[in-house]
Amino acid sequence: MAGTLFTKIINREIPADIVYEDELSLAFRDINPQAPVHLLIIPKQEIPTINDIELNDRELVGHLFLVAKKLATEMGFAEDGYRVVMNCNESAGQTVFHIHLHLLAGKTLGWPPYTDRAKV
Ligand code: 5GP
Repeated sequence: MAGTLFTKIINREIPADIVYEDELSLAFRDINPQAPVHLLIIPKQEIPTINDIELNDRELVGHLFLVAKKLATEMGFAEDGYRVVMNCNESAGQTVFHIHLHLLAGKTLGWPPYTDRAKV
């Protein structure tokens, strides 16, 4: 099997609780939720990190935000509030190298969002 973990989810080689799909993107529930609602919104195209986003990808990346807005509206927390985050590389905590928006909602979210982690 080739491709990232998330491509395997797109291809239904790994199960996931999928909440939305279109020709460009997929959204599913995070396996280790950090809020009552924790979705991952991914492009079907594999792009490892934010650093790999090219000019040609700008519509695709913008599309991910429109999906976030659509899901927030349809799930009923758009007005209450939510957070959209994309981690880039190790110091930000990225563990899956296929870009993804985290969509977090359903509680009052703390800010700043980080805890210091010792770098070894
Ligand atoms: P990152 O740390 O790269 O920003 O986020 C990766 C996210 O993917 C994490 O929140 C992690 O819980 C989630 N994740 C990792 N493996 C799986 C999986 O197999 N299924 C689902 N649904 N989420 C996963």
